Amino acid sequence: TTTDNAPEGVLPRPVVDRLPKYAAGKPPAAIEGLTSYKLSSNENPLPPIPAVLQAISDQTDINRYPDPLATKLRTALAGFLDVPADDVVTGAGSLGALNQILATFAGQNDDGKADEVIYAWRSFEAYPICVGLAGAASVQIPLLADGRHDLDTMAAAVTVRTKVILLCTPNNPTGPILTAEETERFIQSVPPNVVVVIDEAYQEFVRDSEAVDGIKLYRKYPNVVVLRTFSKAHGLAGLRVGYSVAGPALTQHLRVTATPFAVSQIAERAAVTSIENFDQVVERVQSLVVERDRVTAGLRELGWFVPEAQGNFIWLNLGGNSAEFAALAAEQALSVRAFANEGVRVSIGEVEANTRFLNLCAGYTKAPR
Ligand code: PMP
Repeated sequence: TTTDNAPEGVLPRPVVDRLPKYAAGKPPAAIEGLTSYKLSSNENPLPPIPAVLQAISDQTDINRYPDPLATKLRTALAGFLDVPADDVVTGAGSLGALNQILATFAGQNDDGKADEVIYAWRSFEAYPICVGLAGAASVQIPLLADGRHDLDTMAAAVTVRTKVILLCTPNNPTGPILTAEETERFIQSVPPNVVVVIDEAYQEFVRDSEAVDGIKLYRKYPNVVVLRTFSKAHGLAGLRVGYSVAGPALTQHLRVTATPFAVSQIAERAAVTSIENFDQVVERVQSLVVERDRVTAGLRELGWFVPEAQGNFIWLNLGGNSAEFAALAAEQALSVRAFANEGVRVSIGEVEANTRFLNLCAGYTKAPR
């Protein structure tokens, strides 16, 4: 992509022109007489807990660089997760942590060919961008009809070029979890030199007792790395703090590729304070889980097909009607995320927003199947 007044001669690597563009969720346009609600970025509609807001405003040393290793945060996470602090690598959001993992383990190989990264599709929109930018090739395996990963086909897609596999549980945007049992069987079926990333951005919202807990698996399998974030349950998306958890076989390399100072001291302090007050985080998450289950049940009562929703969002399999539905939502001052000709993802928001969304669905005749 060049523009008319672009200076000549400066060109990005060819892959940059081929990358899909990240279409971040937008706030809704204002509609007279209606409060607007943004349900398009899987954000937490609730503000951070009071102790976190206090900790942020108390921070005075921002003329200094932060601790490059975010030692306080890694120590807090070590206690919280019962893992060695050395197994935790922090990043600017879990996206920062993911980019680091990809840059470390997958890219253009020395033979000039691209390494392969396998992941389910549709899944998190950033995956193809991160993989492409790393120089690796995406191998996208279509989801099953109910929005779950097709793990058998993913395992069968492994070649000698496969370096990383991304698993997303609950899957963004469709919602189902991976079970502990199927995930462990999958890990056992792939070669031990392939890095298996388990992206658990929405882990705190999961209520299905069969769901995988990546932390248990990383203890057993040295090629497993777990991604988690403060953006969703903790409500700190704007501070950009996330982390990976893996054993020394992986972290020895991640230490080399870490972006220095990726986590600011404000973000670090907020995250530590949020962990220290996790009972309050859990309360808020539970209120969102109740809302998620209310919305899911409401849609099913209307006769709509809704895949198992274990994150803070639900998926409407609207196919060719996706853009039309998103436009109708916009008329109600609700922004939702439409993936053209596939479906619409709707984040769980304020009670009033969720009710307005349900009312919109009740008046919409082309229910997803
Ligand atoms: N993984 C998944 C599955 C996500 O949905 C998101 C956010 N939409 C992220 C990672 C990135 O979140 P963050 O960088 O804010 O931690």
